[in-house]
Amino acid sequence: MSDNCCDDFQLAVGDFLIRHRSVIDILTKYQEATARVNRAFAKAVTECGCLEIKAGRQNLPAEVEYSELKQYMSSHLSGEPCEHCKEIISAELGHSLFYMTALCNLLGLNVHDIMRQECNTVTTLGIYHLS
Ligand SMILES: [Zn+2]
Repeated sequence: MSDNCCDDFQLAVGDFLIRHRSVIDILTKYQEATARVNRAFAKAVTECGCLEIKAGRQNLPAEVEYSELKQYMSSHLSGEPCEHCKEIISAELGHSLFYMTALCNLLGLNVHDIMRQECNTVTTLGIYHLS
């Protein structure tokens, strides 16, 4: 075991990547896994009901400081995921991470390095790095 869980996970994923070795399998499995995350979220709303989505246009005052932006932006989400939905959404996110990590393995990329780089980018540029 190394001192970071990303490396441990990446090694474990590598060991299990025998059946889905092709990049085509991994890319399509990754896409399927992310769709299942969305599906689990949707089911928490429409079947369980522990979460609700009430969406509308974001209403921002004309002159708003960046530091105050957060208090005006809505997630459009209300409620808390129940234990059951939390478990399912977590599992689907885990599967998604699995295939994302498998893609990294194919390309020789280190997941921990990517997370550290993204963390630096987010802390330096904030939300602007995604636009
Ligand atoms: Zn629920």
